[in-house]
Amino acid sequence: MNSRRDFLQKLGVSAVALQLGTVHVWANDKNASHQPYDGKVLRVAIMGLGGYGTRVAGAMQYCTKAKLVGAISGTPKKLTDWQDSFNIPAKNCYNYQTYHEIKNNPDIDAVYITTPNGLHHDMALAVAKAGKHVICEKPMALNAKQGQAMVDACNAAGVKLLVGYRMHFEPHTLEIIRMRKAGEFGKILFFQGLCGFEIGDPTQWRLNKELAGGGSLMDIGIYAINGSRYMTGEEPIWVTAQETKTDPVKFKEGVDETIQFQFGFPSGATASCLSTYSQNNLDKFYLNGQKGWAEMQPSTGYGPIKGRTFKGELDQPVTTHQTVQMDAFADILFNGAQPPVPVDGNEAVKDLKIIDAIYLAVKTGKKVDLNLS
Ligand code: NAD
Repeated sequence: MNSRRDFLQKLGVSAVALQLGTVHVWANDKNASHQPYDGKVLRVAIMGLGGYGTRVAGAMQYCTKAKLVGAISGTPKKLTDWQDSFNIPAKNCYNYQTYHEIKNNPDIDAVYITTPNGLHHDMALAVAKAGKHVICEKPMALNAKQGQAMVDACNAAGVKLLVGYRMHFEPHTLEIIRMRKAGEFGKILFFQGLCGFEIGDPTQWRLNKELAGGGSLMDIGIYAINGSRYMTGEEPIWVTAQETKTDPVKFKEGVDETIQFQFGFPSGATASCLSTYSQNNLDKFYLNGQKGWAEMQPSTGYGPIKGRTFKGELDQPVTTHQTVQMDAFADILFNGAQPPVPVDGNEAVKDLKIIDAIYLAVKTGKKVDLNLS
């Protein structure tokens, strides 16, 4: 156990989560028990063995309903390392030239795409064509048009498309959503989402327009976009946005450093959000209603997530988000489970439509109307 613990800690899996053990809960069920699972196990190959792919691989070692069984990489050494580290058979390893052959592999159910954003669309289409379920990281694509094409391709191929919205299974988040649905905050009036970190290496793909699709908004601002939707329970009907740039050398044309954006919702509620690559530890959600409020800080990082409301501190369990997400994905794909907040391609297309609208609002300086229904 200790060597596995050391190994997973090296991979960056939360030390707190390791101490507590993985908690397999979706919702506010403090009494959730670890029932033995004898259903169908979701067998996953990860494509793109970088930082996040490795984190998912580590977290999946604790899954009960999903199993890491394959890997796709352009680097042969990474494939042999993963075979050793995660006990992956060589026959389930592919590179970017051969992965279409996965269609002939009956031992893989789904491919989890954890490559740079600009590659998601083409890879998802290829995975769908190979007849495997697609799990894709956020942002699902570079824009709504690409995202819709991914949804259509998966529908046409008869495979499912799920997106790594790990916060949709996070217990503090779900408790606030439960309270909001129960009317405990009264009429929702306002949401604030602050998301940012200071980005390092100027040569990384996150600062390359072609691979990233933009800048901080694509990468971290998307949490405030998605969060504003699941926290208020509404879809925005208009967007305004303003960009500021302090370092035009590092943040080139089309790569945003900081964007502030505002949403209006059908009820009259509004949201005010900040997305930045120039402030560390910016990770806070605040929801205000006529009768009460909720606050989360950190709100979307790997955890431990902390939250409080006008009624006091939340004491939901600390989870390893990726472990819970992958077990939940097995339930969705094989057992027809309905997630508390959608995690499918249509959900991601809504975020991408909002991203398109924010960039348009920045460019034109005008309010942009949205229709997401
Ligand atoms: P990363 O740079 O650490 O890993 C990307 C991987 O893709 C690397 O292994 C790289 O070799 C590979 N790759 C394949 N083709 C490439 C190409 N043409 N150029 C560059 N790399 C190429 O990045 P990451 O942090 O793992 O992010 C990958 C994806 O995961 C992104 O879409 C990102 O938004 C998402 N992500 C999600 C979360 C989350 O919490 N849900 C966290 C981090 C990253």
